[in-house]
Amino acid sequence: MVPPTPAPDSFAELDLLRALLEVGRPYFEAEVVCETECRGNRFPVHLVSLGSQDPAAPAIGLFAGIHGLERIGTQLLLDYMRSLLKRLEWDALLHLQLQSVRLLFMPIVNPAGMWAGRRANANGVDLMRNAPQDADGPVPFLAGGQRVGSWLPWYRGPAGGPMERESLALLQVVQERLQTRKLSFAVDCHSGYGWRDSIWFPYARTCTAMANLPEMYVIKTLFEQAHPHHGYAFEPQSHQYLAHGDLWDYAYDRTPAGHVFLPMTLELGSWLWIKKNPRQLFSRHGIFNPIKAHRTARVLRRHVSLFDFLARAAYAPQGWLPAGPAREAILREASEHWQAPTRRQWRQWR
Ligand SMILES: [Zn+2]
Repeated sequence: MVPPTPAPDSFAELDLLRALLEVGRPYFEAEVVCETECRGNRFPVHLVSLGSQDPAAPAIGLFAGIHGLERIGTQLLLDYMRSLLKRLEWDALLHLQLQSVRLLFMPIVNPAGMWAGRRANANGVDLMRNAPQDADGPVPFLAGGQRVGSWLPWYRGPAGGPMERESLALLQVVQERLQTRKLSFAVDCHSGYGWRDSIWFPYARTCTAMANLPEMYVIKTLFEQAHPHHGYAFEPQSHQYLAHGDLWDYAYDRTPAGHVFLPMTLELGSWLWIKKNPRQLFSRHGIFNPIKAHRTARVLRRHVSLFDFLARAAYAPQGWLPAGPAREAILREASEHWQAPTRRQWRQWR
């Protein structure tokens, strides 16, 4: 029998997302927030929401697939969505939690890039370098974002031009669905950088500390107390390198006064996967994704506790959000912990 011809816009992750939306119809609210095109094919950018309808309820946005090559982040979110659906069949505590918390999923921000097997979107723009702001210090050559042309990686798009559709769609979701609330989190899943898994937070454009350093520090501390063996390096992105045009910097700087919005980038360290399986280096896909099945399973398993933890933190903000003199003390501790690296340290690391 001849297998049915897949739809022209079909790829494994998008097909899985569509299947999840079908099965999850009783729980998921699904919408298409923008469409992109590549070589005559159209691709939807899906937003999936569930949980509290209260516009003031704390919310968590989970994002992935901004870089089309980094499929493991998308698979991680699809896997989490699938596990939530199964738990919703029986888990009364999860139902209770979702009465007070909203979850948003944007698991394939750059579907055209994923379909084409490239980091950039269909216009050759690296969406994570696409916001207009410049870094206030030296950035790594090319990788910090460049405007030479889309034929080189890390292209920011033309100077003064509008941001790409996918970037605008993501920022609109953040602005209208997350930052309108007193408390919200974002986790954006990437892969390909570093020996270990990292959680980065703003800024990428400067070594100056973000205004919510105390809140970020409390989240880090609580998470480490709850999961002492998680092994994330938790730090401002600027401790690794500076970059132009980071969408999370841009979004964070537009948080309304008095609201707490904590964006995090989950960077899955793939260099270890390559060390364990050097043949991966010969495949572009392999640099960004664990190839052996058991390694993929381990990655998918490892990060569920972070998502569950954030949902609990969102459920009980009165239990941990710092205020008054206590916040001042935490700020001092956090500033000491995350001292900006000296120029010499920074050069050594790179
Ligand atoms: Zn990435």
